[in-house]
Amino acid sequence: MIHFVGAGSGAADLITVRGAELLKEADVIIYAGSLVNPALLEYAKDGAEIYNSATMTLEEVVETEIAAETTGKMCVRLHTGDPSLYGAHREQMDLLDKAGVAYDVTPGVSSFCGAAAALNAEYTLPDISQSVIITRMEGRTPVPQGEKLRSMAQHGCTMVLFLSTGLLEAAQEELIEGGYSPDTPAAIVYKATWPDEKIFRCTVGTLAQTAEVAGIANTALITIGGFLGDSYSRSKLYDPSFTHLFRTGTDEA
Ligand code: SAH
Repeated sequence: MIHFVGAGSGAADLITVRGAELLKEADVIIYAGSLVNPALLEYAKDGAEIYNSATMTLEEVVETEIAAETTGKMCVRLHTGDPSLYGAHREQMDLLDKAGVAYDVTPGVSSFCGAAAALNAEYTLPDISQSVIITRMEGRTPVPQGEKLRSMAQHGCTMVLFLSTGLLEAAQEELIEGGYSPDTPAAIVYKATWPDEKIFRCTVGTLAQTAEVAGIANTALITIGGFLGDSYSRSKLYDPSFTHLFRTGTDEA
């Protein structure tokens, strides 16, 4: 049994209790060294074999996982954030399926949640946005035709861009061509929840310039939308006049 574990967005104590317990038990740990906080390796027991996947290929990672399994060692594959987002996770599961090796998945706090926490923000505000688009600017990894940034921008909703910090000149053009006005609020969140986290508030029209001045080229998320502004409507759920399954509102009383 291989255990895929989401490490969380950075701070070592943001891993789940289940994830930490698995790390403590592991004989073999393969971690994504480019983005997983090395402080998490302090959970590892003495003598655990530790591999940094940043310098490994898919085949090497899966061979290491299978070797652990066949020698009766407990193996944790530690992914940054949650494995389900840009995690190169499925391709490992498919190779393990082929090899007849079982696995399970422990989710983690994705960096887009860490970024909202860093910003003290809520992505879904009544009358502002009820949807969050998680996407990326097209780079060396192609983006399917129906998901180009320009067309995603037409929705005008909250958007979180992963893996795009080095492409902000092109991204901001696409966002504006797609429909966001250049003065739409935006924020660049660098290393959300890490000790050296940094936040740069700007607008869609100043994203590239802001990143350049700040010298931010990676490990950042771009968040966009009116949720970063000042206006919104309060929720129905906690409105005194609103009746729902668990509470009778004043209008009904
Ligand atoms: N599975 C991860 C994402 C992996 S893709 C997750 O759920 O968060 C790697 C990209 O995620 C980075 O290029 C960056 O855009 C973003 N990222 C990961 N950790 C981050 C953090 N702590 N702060 C800001 N962005 C982060």
